[in-house]
Amino acid sequence: MTNNGTLRRAIITAPQAIQFEELPVPEPGPDEVLVEVRACAICTWEKRAFTGADTRFYPLVGGHEIAGVVAAIGQRAGDGLAVGDRVAVSGLTRCGKCYSCRRGRDNRCENTWQRDMVPGQPIGPGGFATYKLGSDYQIFRLGADTDFVEGALTEPLACVVRSVKRARVAPGDFVVVMGGGVMGALHVLLAKRQGATVVVSEPDAGRRQRLEALGADCVVDAAATDLRALVKDMTRGHGAEVVFDAVGMGPNLETGLQLVGNGGRVMVYARVYPKGTTIKMDPNLFHEKEIVLTGSMSQNREDFMQAAEMIVRRTADLRPLISGIYPMDQLVEAFEASTRLENYRIVVTM
Ligand SMILES: [Zn+2]
Ligand SMILES: [Zn+2]
Repeated sequence: MTNNGTLRRAIITAPQAIQFEELPVPEPGPDEVLVEVRACAICTWEKRAFTGADTRFYPLVGGHEIAGVVAAIGQRAGDGLAVGDRVAVSGLTRCGKCYSCRRGRDNRCENTWQRDMVPGQPIGPGGFATYKLGSDYQIFRLGADTDFVEGALTEPLACVVRSVKRARVAPGDFVVVMGGGVMGALHVLLAKRQGATVVVSEPDAGRRQRLEALGADCVVDAAATDLRALVKDMTRGHGAEVVFDAVGMGPNLETGLQLVGNGGRVMVYARVYPKGTTIKMDPNLFHEKEIVLTGSMSQNREDFMQAAEMIVRRTADLRPLISGIYPMDQLVEAFEASTRLENYRIVVTM
């Protein structure tokens, strides 16, 4: 099938610098699906490229939180998909052949797009564009009435689905979420749905208010509150079942290990710890309390599928996490808005 017309995409070329370029709309190969992008959310990774906090990927065609409409389907692709269907696109490519993929850890695929980086050549998931070509396994069906802006949050939701599953949050659990950014907020939403009591520590007063509105049972500023004493008091001395570190800096992990009780799980969700960071801990804790210290990275296909089903059925209302919607022409303004602390997700529409 032919698609006359142009694909317009944004490239982050340097800190604060975004260029647009036009290319012919690609045709899907036999196992590919072409999606007309309708919405793409700005995630921390692209934000860090825009601000210059992470300079490794220029020139970057960012945008991996993508929702849109199926525009064309390759011969062997689609599995029942039709042109016009609303879909979410997983920006992460997976080879399906490497050791990690074959062991069910395709979130850690050893052959993702980063391997193909050529200096000076733009590369990346390319969601800030009018079209996105993906392999059919990257395409996840949304509902006929799913809002594209909410659909763009399938990817971050999938990451938190994985984190909450790996932490085995169960009904009656006492959960501490450190950090009330958008990822912390998603942890609050999902942990509450599992039947847990959720305490959040977040230094920003505006965010604290919003976390309460989202259903957190108790929201504190760890600088003004002794978190250990609070958790001890609220759990009758037993400690928390699960602590999520959604901050990734400072002494949170060491604090987290102090907050969990017998059999507790400490989940490193955030991934911004500078390389080489070390923490201090007493190994006896692991033996005596059978504590598990672990982490969660991206999502695998199952996590993504589960998140897509949640979006389709509106199991969780993600609308409070959307702080602004900008047209693609205002991508610079959108990025600037995304760096402001009071904002959760900023979504760009095409
Ligand atoms: Zn993301
Ligand atoms: Zn792989």
